[in-house]
Amino acid sequence: MTNKDDAIRIRELAKQHNILFGESIPLIASENVLSPLAKELLLSDLGSRYAEGLPGKRYYQGNFYVDQIEILTTELAKKLFRTDYVDVRPISGTNANQAVVFALSHPGDIITTVPLASGAHISSAKFGTVGFRGLNPVNYPFDVETMNIDVDLASKLIRLIKPKIALFGQSVFLFPTPLRELSDALQEADSYVWYDGAHVLGLIAGKRFQDPLREGAHVISGSTHKTLPGPQRGIILGNPKDEEMWEKIQRAVFPGVISNHHLNTMAALGVTLAEHLEFGESYADQVIRNAKRLAQELHTLGFKVLGEKVGFTESHTILVDVKDQGGGRKVAEDLEKANIILNMNLLPYDDQSKPRNPSGIRIGTQEVTRIGMKESEMVEIAGLIKEVAMDKKDPVKVKEKVKELKRQFMGVKYCFHENFDPYRYIELV
Ligand SMILES: *Cc1c(COP(=O)(O)O)cnc(C)c1O
Repeated sequence: MTNKDDAIRIRELAKQHNILFGESIPLIASENVLSPLAKELLLSDLGSRYAEGLPGKRYYQGNFYVDQIEILTTELAKKLFRTDYVDVRPISGTNANQAVVFALSHPGDIITTVPLASGAHISSAKFGTVGFRGLNPVNYPFDVETMNIDVDLASKLIRLIKPKIALFGQSVFLFPTPLRELSDALQEADSYVWYDGAHVLGLIAGKRFQDPLREGAHVISGSTHKTLPGPQRGIILGNPKDEEMWEKIQRAVFPGVISNHHLNTMAALGVTLAEHLEFGESYADQVIRNAKRLAQELHTLGFKVLGEKVGFTESHTILVDVKDQGGGRKVAEDLEKANIILNMNLLPYDDQSKPRNPSGIRIGTQEVTRIGMKESEMVEIAGLIKEVAMDKKDPVKVKEKVKELKRQFMGVKYCFHENFDPYRYIELV
């Protein structure tokens, strides 16, 4: 094999990957597809350039157009999230979290967090960003019935330990966080209120989830590629306690945790924000309708969908206990053989130290919605999941039905140039 063969092999594998996703039902709750305009910008020369600092205060030459793009992207984010405090430079959600943690805390401080098994992200764990900053995470009591933080017990905890930072937001995010209900305790404790909206940013922007900046959060961090259907990147939004807090955050972003900030994905983010201003509300609306319908249908078919007493979900995400069907790992692997792509997930009552053998699967409706699926397709998807996970039909046979369904949904919606195939591989040479 020559070096060129290896290069071509990598391209072939990437093409195969595109084909795989073009023939699959994508249900990973943290993924999405780009609009054609956003995708085009990823290939622009911006992706080869450097910009450090802020527009007008750069360290390199050549940023004449970059500055204008960054200013416009920032303005669009201000408009979409209705705040004057925006930093669009973090290059991922975790990177945004690093900046927040570094800005607002010192080693030894206490941070309150949702338990990992109840859906928190690894960056909030002892072995993640929070732990690497030397913080001591203390978990809120979590109620499995309502799939949310227990307000009474959490208020007592916050008043007792007065955390430097109270962190909210999850990777399994079924219901809005009771920020208003916790606000008295948070004010008494004088905590920084930090909302990690990585998963639900597109729903917040679409005015269909909650409005953390108006419910007591001082800062929101997030990924820009989950329910906000943009490039893989991060963002920080503020309603800071004081100007000093926001300055600390911006300094923590640069030069704290980034130098260059990947200008092609920034431009793609700008386009995504403009498209979300135009289509975000109807998109978020349909995402949540689809999640509710899929949850209801899975429940009707006999699956144990969490949050039954509270309507299963108010977001893009559904959590299903598949212990009786062989556990999360087995079910997720069998579904993959049928081209239904989702992930195993810990449930609140699982042993947190055994993330490789959880009882649950997590399902997200944001990508299938983005390509135009509605409630009737959710019913079909539930049926296909049942055939594999419950009826134990041969996944390879079910795969043909999956491909058939997917073939009818090969164009991106909720953007300025609809019906572009997001799974198409674009060849340059
Ligand atoms: C996905 C996620 C992140 C991290 O985002 P990346 O962009 O993958 O780094 C942070 N917090 C939560 C709650 C998440 O779900």
